[in-house]
Amino acid sequence: MTINILFAAQADRWAQYEAPLTVALNETGLAYDLRTEFAPGDVDYIVYAPNSEVQDFTPYTRLKAVMNLWAGVEGVVKNQTLTVPLTRMIDENGLTQGMVEWVTGHALRHHLEMDRHIVNPDHVWDHTPPPLSKDRPVTILGFGALGQACAAALLSLGFPVTGWSRSAHPMDGVTTHAGAEGLTQALTDAQIVVLLLPDTPATENTLNAQSLAQLPRGAVIINPGRGPLIDDAALLAALDSGQIGHATLDVFRIEPLPQDDPYWTHPKVTVTPHIASETRPDSASRVIAQNIRRNEAGEGLQHLVDRSAGY
Ligand code: NDP
Repeated sequence: MTINILFAAQADRWAQYEAPLTVALNETGLAYDLRTEFAPGDVDYIVYAPNSEVQDFTPYTRLKAVMNLWAGVEGVVKNQTLTVPLTRMIDENGLTQGMVEWVTGHALRHHLEMDRHIVNPDHVWDHTPPPLSKDRPVTILGFGALGQACAAALLSLGFPVTGWSRSAHPMDGVTTHAGAEGLTQALTDAQIVVLLLPDTPATENTLNAQSLAQLPRGAVIINPGRGPLIDDAALLAALDSGQIGHATLDVFRIEPLPQDDPYWTHPKVTVTPHIASETRPDSASRVIAQNIRRNEAGEGLQHLVDRSAGY
């Protein structure tokens, strides 16, 4: 029987995904039909981006799963009309690799204090060397697919790494803490904090006036997670007081970041336009196709979202 797969994302994405998805689905050996339009009652799987036209899943009576193209699912996870399994993107060869490169790059920028030499209008010959990585503890808030991959990369460069998550995830060479009570311990020594938590009601304002005050003075924040993880007013106050040395922010409560947002002009803030990492069509298509193959073979779906936890 033919499996009908609906690609439901913004129109311009189809041009990027049609060929790689076709190649990847062909590799599975399944009989399939991949299109951007079907009668809803004929659809077996939806490859999905939350801002697509599909917002009501009720007419999709034959649907077996919705496969979110992105790692973050906050745009679909609360949709009450969605009653079938929801998967999210975990792609070591694309999305994860991109995040590892972005996080290590920005961590190294701050660790090596590169800005002192890149922006040096007075031509100051400041010979002070930065510390070695072994003396620069890094804490990663959110120790899942992306957090653990970034930890491994930072560890290989010699940084002492601490990871924090909801449940415990022991990892060789990494100090790990779990649960709300573990946050203080995770922050106490951190000179660089990387946020890789999902956007859920429980993670909103994880960095607030109280938790920012628990960091050593001058700590650097790197946020490629989601905007609501940070209380913006508290971060701006901590930057102004010197408690926080710099913030590199890739994600915001409102995107694109409005032109009058103080982050744009703050001298201790670097804004990047949600480019920390991106789902890459070639490798992501293989993840999606193999997940459909697994489900059709009765092997179960991978990368399932826990709807009650919100990620
Ligand atoms: P995962 O679900 O694999 O990891 C999330 C981690 O956060 C897990 O360790 C989880 O704990 C932890 N967590 C969740 N809720 C809490 C909580 N209340 N307290 C403590 N820890 C918590 O997600 P990914 O690593 O794949 O992705 C993380 C996020 O990165 C995405 O949700 C997305 O927002 C963001 N992202 C940003 C991109 C960008 O370009 N800027 C690109 C891709 C992703 P546990 O392990 O116990 O479940």
